[in-house]
Amino acid sequence: MRRIITFLAAVVALTAVALGSTARAADDRRLVLVTLDGLPWQEVFHGADRERAANRDFVHEIDDVRRRFVTPADRAAALMPFLNGVVARDGVLIGDRDHGSCAKVSNEMWFSYPGYNEILTGKPDPRIRSNEHGPNANVSFLEWVNRRPGFRGKVRALGSWDHFEDIINAGRSGVPVNDGWDDLPARTPAEARLADFARWSPRLWPTVRLDAITHGYALETLKRDKPRVLFVSYGETDDFAHEGRYDMMLDAAQRTDGYIAELWRTLQADPAYRGKTTLIVTTDHGRGEGAPDAWKHHGKPLHKGSDAIWIGAIGRGVAAGAKPEGCVSQSQIAATALTVLGEDWTAFDPQAGQPLPILTGR
Ligand SMILES: [Zn+2]
Repeated sequence: MRRIITFLAAVVALTAVALGSTARAADDRRLVLVTLDGLPWQEVFHGADRERAANRDFVHEIDDVRRRFVTPADRAAALMPFLNGVVARDGVLIGDRDHGSCAKVSNEMWFSYPGYNEILTGKPDPRIRSNEHGPNANVSFLEWVNRRPGFRGKVRALGSWDHFEDIINAGRSGVPVNDGWDDLPARTPAEARLADFARWSPRLWPTVRLDAITHGYALETLKRDKPRVLFVSYGETDDFAHEGRYDMMLDAAQRTDGYIAELWRTLQADPAYRGKTTLIVTTDHGRGEGAPDAWKHHGKPLHKGSDAIWIGAIGRGVAAGAKPEGCVSQSQIAATALTVLGEDWTAFDPQAGQPLPILTGR
């Protein structure tokens, strides 16, 4: 009898250890959310548009663009090898409307602030009608999770566009936001070089810094701060498109795909992140379609089709190859993010869009 009791005690102890380690693993889930501003699904899934890439109104170095983006047999892989390769194969890539996959925004604006608000808060807010909306009254999932046990002080946000201080309401949320041309910390030698690089760089747009700067700070943030939740927003794709520079938009899309690949490699090489981290990649809005120069712009109601977006996900908790039915919404990203972090999204906001049907449930 004593032997049986000893045996049972050992089983109970071992089970407790096993449960404890499961709980610890669950407690250490991490998320990296990346956005590329206004990059249309057509380029993500088809690569460069042949006609646009040959139009001298939109492209300065036609031969260079043809060689890099049009001649390759797989134009999508030539433009965005990481999204179309690793993410599409080992994760999920939604939004190829030519092959029965669809994603859209739910807001009625189809431009940036309403889009980022929808991504980060899980629902559209009809009161947000301008990019100059100011500090956001809504609570993002970043702010909410930053108050949860185990996440406090472990949430970071970086953006090329200087409006993220407002969108995430840095003043209220307690989430550190690094964005725009003036936010150039120099806590390490690497950051000091980035700050120099920013000051030496062309200030192409006063409100959007070059993505290389944002990317450099993102890598330093991963290395130094090891946040459990990291949001990185790249901006160049939208700004070059507004200027009608299709060549530069393609160049930015390819470069940013490389940034995302580098983020993923960095996560896989770090025991703090490897096997524990989910990467979600998306865009705030699409671009117009139809007329030859419709791609330059976006916004409702003038620019038809610019509510179309795409969403990619890979890593912990993502069911590789999942194919959601119907058209998923940008408003589902916040709940998806919280679910992969092991948090109850209904406690965040029961009105938020439901998690995307792409998760393993573990
Ligand atoms: Zn725009």
